[in-house]
Amino acid sequence: MSASVKYVYLFGSSRTDGGTAMKNLLGGKGANLAEMCRLGISVPAGFTISTEACTVFTEQGKERALALIKDEVLQGIAFIEQQMNKAFGNAADPLLLSVRSGARASMPGMMDTILNLGLNDQAVHGLARMADNERFAWDSYRRFVQMYGDVVMGLKPVKKEDRDPFEVLIDMVKAKRGVQLDTDLDTTDLKELVARFKALIRARIGRDFPTDPWEQLWGAVTAVFESWNNDRARVYRELNDIPQSWGTAVNVQAMIFGNLGNNSATGVAFTRDAGTGEDLFNGEFLVNAQGEDVVAGIRTPQQVSLVASRRWAELARVSEDERRARYPSLEELMPEIYQQLLHAETLLENHFKDMQDLEFTIQEGRLWMLQTRNGKRTGAAMVRIAMEMLQQGMLDEKTALLRVAPDRLHELLHPVFDTQALKNAQVIGRGLPASPGAASGQIVFFADEADEWSKAGKAVILVRQETSPEDLRGMSVAKGILTARGGMTSHAAVVARGMGKCCVSGAGAVHVDYKARSMIIGEHTYEEGDWISLDGSTGEVFAGNIATTAAKLSGDFATLMALADRYMRLEVRANADTPDEAKVAREFGATGIGLCRTEHMFFEGERIIPMREMILANDEAGRRKALAKLLPIQRADFEGLFREMSGLPVTIRLLDPPLHEFVPQDEASQRVMAADMKVSLGKIRMRVEELHEFNPMMGHRGCRLGITYPEITEMQTRAILEAALDARAKGAELKVEIMVPLVGTVREFNIQAAVIRRTALQVFAERREQIRFQLGTMIETPRAALIADSIGTKAEFFSFGTNDLTQMTMGFSRDDASKFLPEYLKAGIYEHDPFRTLDQKGVGLLVQMAVEKGRSVRPDLEVGICGEHGGDPISVAFFHRVGLDYVSCSPFRVPIARLAAAQAAVSDRP
Ligand code: PEP
Ligand code: MG
Repeated sequence: MSASVKYVYLFGSSRTDGGTAMKNLLGGKGANLAEMCRLGISVPAGFTISTEACTVFTEQGKERALALIKDEVLQGIAFIEQQMNKAFGNAADPLLLSVRSGARASMPGMMDTILNLGLNDQAVHGLARMADNERFAWDSYRRFVQMYGDVVMGLKPVKKEDRDPFEVLIDMVKAKRGVQLDTDLDTTDLKELVARFKALIRARIGRDFPTDPWEQLWGAVTAVFESWNNDRARVYRELNDIPQSWGTAVNVQAMIFGNLGNNSATGVAFTRDAGTGEDLFNGEFLVNAQGEDVVAGIRTPQQVSLVASRRWAELARVSEDERRARYPSLEELMPEIYQQLLHAETLLENHFKDMQDLEFTIQEGRLWMLQTRNGKRTGAAMVRIAMEMLQQGMLDEKTALLRVAPDRLHELLHPVFDTQALKNAQVIGRGLPASPGAASGQIVFFADEADEWSKAGKAVILVRQETSPEDLRGMSVAKGILTARGGMTSHAAVVARGMGKCCVSGAGAVHVDYKARSMIIGEHTYEEGDWISLDGSTGEVFAGNIATTAAKLSGDFATLMALADRYMRLEVRANADTPDEAKVAREFGATGIGLCRTEHMFFEGERIIPMREMILANDEAGRRKALAKLLPIQRADFEGLFREMSGLPVTIRLLDPPLHEFVPQDEASQRVMAADMKVSLGKIRMRVEELHEFNPMMGHRGCRLGITYPEITEMQTRAILEAALDARAKGAELKVEIMVPLVGTVREFNIQAAVIRRTALQVFAERREQIRFQLGTMIETPRAALIADSIGTKAEFFSFGTNDLTQMTMGFSRDDASKFLPEYLKAGIYEHDPFRTLDQKGVGLLVQMAVEKGRSVRPDLEVGICGEHGGDPISVAFFHRVGLDYVSCSPFRVPIARLAAAQAAVSDRP
């Protein structure tokens, strides 16, 4: 191995070391800055310290890491100096720097940024002279001390109700001067603020603010590396499955100023609409401002394009005259710069072939690009962008399919407000439609409380003046987010879209009083706990809880699904127990029912009574009497299911759960049952006790019920086949599959098969007609998987019950695992919750082996899976690889599984 590892990569107009392909090493931001330089786009010169340096920092400590990169950083600074024609540390004409984090995966706002680095009491005068603007120089210095004090020196609010200590001082000075806006503060005020900030740092931290630019630089680099491990970054990584081991890169870059007067500005833009996916260049900017002003949402930003500006004005109820006068678009204000920006956005989108999220700054009439990355977007935007880029010829079909994260599709299946309920709802405020969706919940004002309330089972709406990265966990559990400040690119808006969460931002009329825990809109006050509703597509805020209805599969979503169908090899069926569920499943594209859990039919309404009679009976005769009452009920249900699924396979499983689940455990219900059945309470109690099991999941359930009480199997078989004959008589086309649960030996299957076949012959003889059916089994005990070749000689199909197979293979109960699983996941003992994502190394091995064994004796054996894993994209890819015929999942996950199946097929290597 070579002795010297390269840690620092330069980028600028004359030399660029990196590029997009080096994203793992340079982080997304660094790699793309380099790529923009290669494309000839104007980017301030800089360098990237690699993620490998961060790994050294984390593993071997600060001293070792800084020593390793020192010489290269010195060369990097010399490179920037030469490119920008300024010297770092030269007080007369200082080169100022920005220092920013940038990991492999984008983690907006999670880690730290420092701007204007290099300023001190001398350099501020040099800057003032060079810019010919004393106020600007002192404002830059004020911002730098504030950011450095917060990020590097750690001066933050102490309690959650507290405000940022620097902002408190700013407000004090504003109050003293009787002004409202930061921009109203003059040079004297800003000088006072710098002095007060420094004094506050000294008093609270016990150290002086560093004046040496090099000391500032090393402090900032250290803070960025350390920020990889701050709480909010960790939470973000947990929520987004980003490995803790990746580390962040550090980007050091020449500062460009958007706050040098009215021909300077700063903004962010998206090449397409991140909320809806519409192919419309859009963004926001502020004249005479620095980057963080746009994202922080303190001033109302203006729109980049004229079209978007007009739309914004309409939503914000701003007249065209006022818009033109106070909030003109960049297109109107700086037409030439707008054309350059348009050129850059087109170039970048065509180059990366994906929607880009851009940051730009205009310094005295010159445009600089500061960042480009693939933009975060809602599930709906993800689908629309992929389908339109396919139509526009930018993507081929396979890439377009891979562009949509299957799990995000659930957002398109989200309920929408019921139109009737909406008519009667009262609009109490309006903001920007920052992230679509319909949400109702109780107001909470603090993110940690949103977390607590939602853990207690409450639906909450997080209401904030503005959000910050600390609020992440609370945002992720809230039904929706409402902020008083901030535009379409504020933290709340960007993060909410990334999460697919309903968000209304910048509702100007909303005033949040954190101390009083209330929200004031005009005359009205809403307290913590009050119900409100948000429409993230219109920006409306309503009082109360509004009813919702299901969404429809249409437009681009339908196109995507049709494309998925063309590529997928796996079939996707649904787990459905009722005709209504079957209907939904069919609408979502299910090509059959992979599991009908017959027991669910017994719980509804009056049906539980004959079921209980059956369980309570002393002998076979008593059971048969009760079963005779259940027969017509089951038959009618099955007929409905068969008719709904005409032409498609329907797999019906025989009774599975332990009988005690059907009898009441509390005395009051036992009394009702005793009265219903005309027996004594004592008798009921005794039977409940008899049915008690220490471990019901491993007790008297599954085919063990049918073996001990064959009359149950008889009744169910009769109900299935009579229903099939009835449905056929009414025109339905049938593919009936009868499935025996929880088999562990061939003999168990044989005994049940004999009862089923015998009953079938009786039914056919009575009805004088026949119907074909398949007789198969679930593979859900480890033993069944191990002897799948023997079982395969008898069973005509297999369906993996991966819920039970997981519980029995792992040796922990699916009902009790939540007591320790979260800790296990944190400790990395399992990578995923094995009840959600199949444990491929263990349980998966059993699945794979059982498929091979089964097909070795019956090459045309039909094999599917109907555990919860059938709707999990990672598991679906595994089932594709091991050659299953179908997955079966809950109706609402059918589209997700279809896309996952198609992605697995296109990702298959030949
Ligand atoms: C399974 O065990 O995976 C299964 C589908 O059956 P149930 O969840 O009803 O036990
Ligand atoms: Mg099971």
